Amino acid sequence: MKRLILCLAIFLSTFIVWAQLAPKYAIVIHGGAGVMDQKDMTPEIQKEYLIVLNRALQIGDSVLSHGGTCLDAVEKTIVIMEDSPLFNAGKGAVFTHDGLVELDASIMEGLSLKAGAIAAVRDIKNPIRVARTVMEKSEHVLLNGMGASQFAKEQGFAPVENSYFHTEKRLKSLQELLKKERETTTNDKHGTVGCVALDSFGNIAAGTSTGGMTNKKYGRIGDSPIIGAGTYANNETGGFSCTGHGEYYIRLGFSRDISALMEYKKLSVQEACREEVGKLTKLGGTGGVIGLDKKGNVAMEFNTSGMFRGYIKSNGEKKVAIFK
Ligand code: ASP
Repeated sequence: MKRLILCLAIFLSTFIVWAQLAPKYAIVIHGGAGVMDQKDMTPEIQKEYLIVLNRALQIGDSVLSHGGTCLDAVEKTIVIMEDSPLFNAGKGAVFTHDGLVELDASIMEGLSLKAGAIAAVRDIKNPIRVARTVMEKSEHVLLNGMGASQFAKEQGFAPVENSYFHTEKRLKSLQELLKKERETTTNDKHGTVGCVALDSFGNIAAGTSTGGMTNKKYGRIGDSPIIGAGTYANNETGGFSCTGHGEYYIRLGFSRDISALMEYKKLSVQEACREEVGKLTKLGGTGGVIGLDKKGNVAMEFNTSGMFRGYIKSNGEKKVAIFK
């Protein structure tokens, strides 16, 4: 009898410790993956990126710690990165072949499987906010171009001039590519932004926002606004946001495939993300993904030399990193 009571006590105390350590909420972000040369990335430049990544995480953390929803955390966190000229999303996005900026974004909620996205928009300051509005206020999932802008205006979003998004750095990238007369597009090394959050209600949301790839033509749209490619969330498995050469992600059904690996093959979020990045590598694609499951386990996988990334959990665990 004594033994039984002792066993029960040990079990109970282990459970209490575990319950306290298991995060009630968690948030993971990326700011793009790519070939990152340590030479170009001076300590000063790295510091600039780390400051914004930390600020984005802080905003998400404060939403979640005050009992906010995963959708609010994802939206507010991504807005911080869209407003920073450092990333290829919102201000600072890459240029198309025609010298314009065209933005894509998507968001998904894992509880209802509702999703919203916009593609190839030229005048929306914070695409992630409009993507969320498509999810919540329209009967559609994906709106593009002028139609998306019209919808945004009707929903009260003031349009901005395309020049608002322009930065010297991205213009130089386009000019260099045009000079080389390369007919290809490039992901301009890095910069798409993404976020996945688990809130204290146990719900997961994921979002992604990008300018796409430098020198893109013919209204090219990548994976970022495609649900199941660049973004996916399902409370039963997890949430995922991708960055990399979009065409490969679309062909793989990348983020939905990760969810399927977790659901059918019972892989952990890290195992599933790693396996999917393996498929990407086999196909010849480059990039990365962030993932988060319902227990707050985080994955940050990529096959490039670096990915701007970080996470924070309610139990105080935190990490921000750039290189492998
Ligand atoms: N995935 C984005 C696209 O292909 C670009 C990136 O993540 O760097 O549009």
